[in-house]
Amino acid sequence: MDSDADNDALREENTALRRQLEQLLREARANEEKMRRFERLEHRLIGARSFIELLELLLGDYKQEFGLEALGLTLVDRDGEAATVLAEVMREDGLLQSLSLAPEATELEVLHGESRRPWLGSFDLQAHGHLFGPRAGFIATVALLPLRRQEQLIGSLNFGSSDSKRYESGTATDLLERLAGIVGVCLDNALNQERLKMAGLTDALTGVHNRRYFDHRCQIEVAHARRHKHTLACMFLDLDGFKRINDTYGHQLGDEVLRAVGSTIQHCLRTGDTIARFGGEEFIALLPQTSRSHVREIAERIREAVAARPLAAGVSATISIGLAMLPGDADQRGVAELATELITQADHALYQAKRQGRNQVVCA
Ligand code: GH3
Ligand code: MG
Ligand code: MG
Repeated sequence: MDSDADNDALREENTALRRQLEQLLREARANEEKMRRFERLEHRLIGARSFIELLELLLGDYKQEFGLEALGLTLVDRDGEAATVLAEVMREDGLLQSLSLAPEATELEVLHGESRRPWLGSFDLQAHGHLFGPRAGFIATVALLPLRRQEQLIGSLNFGSSDSKRYESGTATDLLERLAGIVGVCLDNALNQERLKMAGLTDALTGVHNRRYFDHRCQIEVAHARRHKHTLACMFLDLDGFKRINDTYGHQLGDEVLRAVGSTIQHCLRTGDTIARFGGEEFIALLPQTSRSHVREIAERIREAVAARPLAAGVSATISIGLAMLPGDADQRGVAELATELITQADHALYQAKRQGRNQVVCA
């Protein structure tokens, strides 16, 4: 009798232990799977080829893969560099709603203090609301990951969940800490790369694009216009009597005039237009989906804006402009040939404007 009861007790204990063991194994397997998913993501982050690809991975894929309901990335952007990169590569994208740029690190320093470790705990609307954008009310717990690069706080990656257990304080944060380390390095590298890329495509004196960028962009715009049967206008601009300005006031002031002209032209164009310094005192612009009469209007506006006021230290200048439109039979010809003809025609029109007395617009 006694031994039967003992046996029952033993059997029960055994079952309980087995259940416990199974539970532990399940957890271990789940952890292993989670770790594998983290590793996969980390590999993809490291392999990202551009700033934008990195943002897409973080703000899009990561959020989906880990079933996050809220994700926000705040980046410290002291000199507006990230803003420039984003404006350049992304014309419209919903992902950017999850991204905010902070001109100072101050707020993030208050949030993270000296800590290098992720902070896990309850969501506090006042303290954390701004990290997640407008619809943060449903969040119960958050994980806030400080992103650092060589001791400097460069941003914060923020996860939010409606599950009050998901990011409980006291939970191990090894995986998140490692992720934050990798994201910090990747973001910093990607921004550095964009910085270099932009420097190689920008004219150092005037800040507008350089010839190299123009040549590349011209092929893209011509191909696009040909495929969609859109119009494409080209504008060739050349300062009048610029040699005399240099000779009279010196090269330094000549440089200032060039800078002022570059920014005047840029202000008269739309963001989808391309402007570049072609060389010396010559600029070139491409205006997609713009009619002949509209390009002429814009060119007149530029000509007037340049002539209207002194450009630097009381020195005035005028500009001549040649216009050309992508040929109507574009669909039967190659992109390179079309691009060359477009530029040549605009150049001829410019020459005509010079011959007719300068400070005027001529359309090919
Ligand atoms: P036109 O009305 O026929 O265009 O006469 P122009 O004097 O503008 O033309 P020209 O081609 O004879 O002279 C262009 C001048 O632009 C000569 C060159 O010294 C000057 N130039 C070219 N690049 C720069 C630059 O980067 N800075 C300065 N200050 N001058 C430059
Ligand atoms: Mg010239
Ligand atoms: Mg000139």
